[in-house]
Amino acid sequence: MSAATLTSAVARPALPAELALAPSDNGAKPLKVGGLTPFSASDYPGKLAAVVFVQGCPWRCGYCHNPHLQSRSADRPLDWPQILARLQRRVGLIDAVVFSGGEPTMDAALADAMRAVRALGLGVGLHTAGAYPRRLAELLPLVDWVGMDVKTSFDQYEAITGIRASARHALASAEAVLASGVAHEFRTTVHPALHAEHEVLALANALSAMGVRHYALQVFRPTGCTDRSLQTSPCGAYPGAELLARVSALFETFTLRRE
Ligand code: SF4
Repeated sequence: MSAATLTSAVARPALPAELALAPSDNGAKPLKVGGLTPFSASDYPGKLAAVVFVQGCPWRCGYCHNPHLQSRSADRPLDWPQILARLQRRVGLIDAVVFSGGEPTMDAALADAMRAVRALGLGVGLHTAGAYPRRLAELLPLVDWVGMDVKTSFDQYEAITGIRASARHALASAEAVLASGVAHEFRTTVHPALHAEHEVLALANALSAMGVRHYALQVFRPTGCTDRSLQTSPCGAYPGAELLARVSALFETFTLRRE
């Protein structure tokens, strides 16, 4: 599927005033990049993509496998203009660039970076957990596909993210993605110690009722995670086959990722 077919008309949702952007420390500076994967076949469905990992995230999920990207370092991260030049040399070899993190929408320079990628003729993918719904709504017209992380049921968010307002922001972002018509995958990283199976089913039902068409469950993987209790508690056969069948029936496409 081409980037063109993945994009559809965008109607920007109105967001409550209290969901205004958290201030970025980036101003007009270039994108703060903490990592680059030059080729990936698994970060944008059906596309070969480069993945740009943007520094910074306001949330602190215990299962995070990129905790080194949570803080925005004072030292010089990877140079965005150099990365852009590298991406230009890959035109014809890759289809798209995915901005991931961290939480890429934290960076005020993301829109300009997306425009630069589009100017190369490449598609734009975005991985987000929705911490900044107003900026996300502004970015969606520049995005061909979004992978939207949903941590858990919206009344349980703080237990995962450690941040009280995170549910409100995530819900507004989820609604913005759905209202935009941009191609999407919603996904939830699950661990048996954090997500009882009945809670996973309740979340899947809620997302389906909201209009989510494409959903994935990603079973926790210990790589990068610094939480010892999560690392040492096995996932075994979780999630069970009956749950997976019931979740799968709710969506147009459903994917289970075990690593
Ligand atoms: S939202 Fe994503 S990047 Fe931020 S702490 Fe949670 S898992 Fe890590």
